[in-house]
Amino acid sequence: MMLPWTQSQVSFLKDLVTLRNPLSRFSFVNYLHSVGRLDDFINMGSFLPFRLEISDYLQWVAKSLALVRVEYSRDCTRIEPVSADGSGLSTGWLARMADGSTIEARNLVIGAGRDAHVPAAFAGLPRERVIHSTEYSRRIVDIDPREPHRVVVVGAAESAAEMLWETYQRFPRAQCTMIIRSAGLDYYQTSKFTNELYFPSYTEKFFSAPEQTREQVLRAMRLTNYAGVTPDMLDTLFRQVYLERLTGEQRLSMVTMVDVEAAEMVDGEIVLTLNDKMRGGRDELRCDLVLLGTGFEGREPSLIRDLADACGVGDVRVSRNYRMITPPDITAGCYLQGTNEATHGIADSLISVLAVRAGEIVGDLLEHRGEAGRESDADSALMRA
Ligand SMILES: Cc1cc2nc3c(=O)[nH]c(=O)nc-3n(C[C@H](O)[C@H](O)[C@H](O)COP(=O)(O)OP(=O)(O)OC[C@H]3O[C@@H](n4cnc5c(N)ncnc54)[C@H](O)[C@@H]3O)c2cc1C
Repeated sequence: MMLPWTQSQVSFLKDLVTLRNPLSRFSFVNYLHSVGRLDDFINMGSFLPFRLEISDYLQWVAKSLALVRVEYSRDCTRIEPVSADGSGLSTGWLARMADGSTIEARNLVIGAGRDAHVPAAFAGLPRERVIHSTEYSRRIVDIDPREPHRVVVVGAAESAAEMLWETYQRFPRAQCTMIIRSAGLDYYQTSKFTNELYFPSYTEKFFSAPEQTREQVLRAMRLTNYAGVTPDMLDTLFRQVYLERLTGEQRLSMVTMVDVEAAEMVDGEIVLTLNDKMRGGRDELRCDLVLLGTGFEGREPSLIRDLADACGVGDVRVSRNYRMITPPDITAGCYLQGTNEATHGIADSLISVLAVRAGEIVGDLLEHRGEAGRESDADSALMRA
């Protein structure tokens, strides 16, 4: 969702380093200073950078690293444990790439996000007729904006709202319909008190709590992250709907309290079967393109599930420091980022805890290397960075 007009919902101070080490040269403020935009950013008077500049910041950091090599456009298809010293213990990992190459490592950190959730009703539609939000920016540019498309957006959270607005503007002749299961779009919930649950210090408290309590907290926090829309976005959409009602030229509409039960191709059109829960009946909606703002799979992504299978791990769990719990014959370290909401809290998949989490992972990694008697100056340099 790297749309040029979108901003982060999280403070620029929650960058890669500041919460762990405000003196680090890899801060967002130092980035702005280095690229000559600090005055402009201060003048904007917002804590919320544009996502475009967060992306640029991340690239700036990547380019600044002397000891780290970043390889772009590599697709990892499988990771297996390997025994490097013939002892029978798995002391390393072998990552297989889509181009047939491999990379060996003693330790592994996986931060590959989560798999896109495509509801079963849409699984049978041709690929060119369905775009999940994770592919939106990449694929929407292939669609001719001059055609009078009928576009349906499924979902009611930030991704769906952003796709609706971008599509509405990008395709001036399109009819854009949002299909919503609930009563209507809502602001995402926030308060300064619940926002404390996004503090890195909350991770420890959450991790130590009983499982049932953790589940209760996650349920309560759902509306703060997954099921709402930012006030700016929601108000923008409402103003446009209002303006259309005023002018009588309606291109933007919302259908609420409906479930999409089926989707099929009929005579070159997509036909959606909608269950209207208010009326208790079924309707058909015909369209040319479906955009899915339907979120992500709750379970582990397939890359991690396959890795766990290869390790003989049934139930994927991590320690407090994100190290995957593996059988005793696997001594190589594997750290999982962003998939530990159940044990580490609502912020686990977000940027909020990133700086501190990365520090905890590096600390744990060095502790294990220390145990193996291999601590070196390079290790200390890594920790200081
Ligand atoms: C609309 C929207 C707004 C958001 N706003 C915010 C916000 O304001 N603040 C916030 O904290 N969070 C926000 N989030 C959540 C945000 O997306 C996450 O915090 C962040 O992207 C997580 O980063 P990540 O690196 O863990 O995962 P991702 O961003 O998902 O990155 C994973 C990367 O791994 C790559 N990858 C996956 N599989 C493989 C493979 N097999 N081989 C090679 N590479 C692979 C992917 O291509 C991708 O580049 C928002 C999300 C959405 C959808």
